[in-house]
Amino acid sequence: MQTTLEEIQDFKGKYPKQLWYLFFSEMWERFCFYGMRGMLTVFMVSQLMMKEDVANLQYGATQAFVYAFTFIGGLFADKILGFRKSLFWGGLLMITGSCILAFGLGKAQTVELNSFWFFLGLSFTIVGTGFFKPNISTMVGALYHENDSRRDAGFSLFYAGINIGALLGGYACVTIAKNYSWNLAFGLAAIVMTISLITFVFTQRKMGPIGLSPIESGKSNGKKWYEYATYLGSLAIIPVIMVMVAKTEYTDWFMYIIGPCTLIYLFYEMRKYNAVEKKKLLAALVFIVFSILFWAFFEQSGGSLNLFASNNLNDTIMGMHFDPNGINNSSNSLFVIIFAPLLGLLWVWLSKRNSEPNTIIKFGLGFIFLALAFYTFYATRFFAGSDGKTSLEIFTMAYFIITFGELCLSPIGLSIMTKLSPQPLQGVMMGMWFLASAYGQYVAGILGAGMVSPNENASLTEKLMSYTDGYQQLAIYAVISGVVLIAISPLVKKLMGDVK
Ligand code: GLN
Repeated sequence: MQTTLEEIQDFKGKYPKQLWYLFFSEMWERFCFYGMRGMLTVFMVSQLMMKEDVANLQYGATQAFVYAFTFIGGLFADKILGFRKSLFWGGLLMITGSCILAFGLGKAQTVELNSFWFFLGLSFTIVGTGFFKPNISTMVGALYHENDSRRDAGFSLFYAGINIGALLGGYACVTIAKNYSWNLAFGLAAIVMTISLITFVFTQRKMGPIGLSPIESGKSNGKKWYEYATYLGSLAIIPVIMVMVAKTEYTDWFMYIIGPCTLIYLFYEMRKYNAVEKKKLLAALVFIVFSILFWAFFEQSGGSLNLFASNNLNDTIMGMHFDPNGINNSSNSLFVIIFAPLLGLLWVWLSKRNSEPNTIIKFGLGFIFLALAFYTFYATRFFAGSDGKTSLEIFTMAYFIITFGELCLSPIGLSIMTKLSPQPLQGVMMGMWFLASAYGQYVAGILGAGMVSPNENASLTEKLMSYTDGYQQLAIYAVISGVVLIAISPLVKKLMGDVK
């Protein structure tokens, strides 16, 4: 007999058991995603012979597209496929993308042909992630009753899974690629994504009615052929994405257009809802807008902080040697894994005592931690030697602090999207949440480029000063954003109605 929604949502204890199934599927998916992400720039520079600045722009473009497609993936899940079919289709596309990279690359005789395979594989991954990433997060939200105070804790645990995958994939793939072969590393991503999909396929029966197709369950009056059209349409768009990612000017245009279009679409959809629901959607938009700012600062980690790490850091923490780029890429995930469950339990503990801060205050705190972290990145300049190299320990401390900022905003953001959106808009709103990350990534690249010392032959000390000046600026803007959020919290609280 099929489990009912009530049986799932009336679970005992801290976490519903279905959360663990989604946890593992998402963990392997993130392994594949971050594994690839960690290889992109290195691959482009060393194998496709791109210049570093071109590779950086190209990297930014792929990241922006990946997150922008989550909006489209969320939209089609709501209207046509449902979350389960979206996940399955997204997973298949991601596996195909990794297989293209694993089998195509290296065999090609010319750089041009290698580039072709590379962008083809990447485009499959972009569309696949669009169908997978937002919808698995929405399914987590569906495991909870509307007012279940354990929801944020659930998202925190889920977030720890994301980061276990990110840590393992981010480390393993690039190491295998550098020391053995690129094909093997991309092949590993394909294998791991297959594990994710198999985990999902075998556990989806335990999800009761969650994520079923709105057409098949009669919630939408769409036709069955819409489903096939979605599959075909998503394949047909792949060559278009290939062209757009390869030429970063097109990414600019895409970014100018997609945001306003999604807003128009949202306002169009809002007509169908009552005043209370409309207000909740407006509150969700406030969170989304602030998250763009947050990611624009936070995502320096993939760009400017990575360059800062390779140029300006020594390699010791408490007498032990570490690769500064390795620390830059993995310390945040490690801290998330350790602290996400603890913070999740802290929220549950506080809520039992009726003193859990509400979401808007948590967001405000997120920005305050962000500011403290960027002040700490700035402070590295006071520990520098005359060679322009500074302390890896202080740098790691900044990552420790930024992790708390992320934990106050990112898992909580996922959770609040599922609370503020009416059922038929859940996928779209989750997609909008991730679209904010797309803009964040995009702006992060621009901010990072602005921090580079104008003098090409700058000494390491000059580079250190130029980057840390930039980090101080970001810290100031982060404080201002945090204070603004806390100041407008009464207004946003009103918009949120009964949602905390
Ligand atoms: N690191 C998180 C993840 O991969 C959040 C990413 C984001 O929203 N920018 O899910």
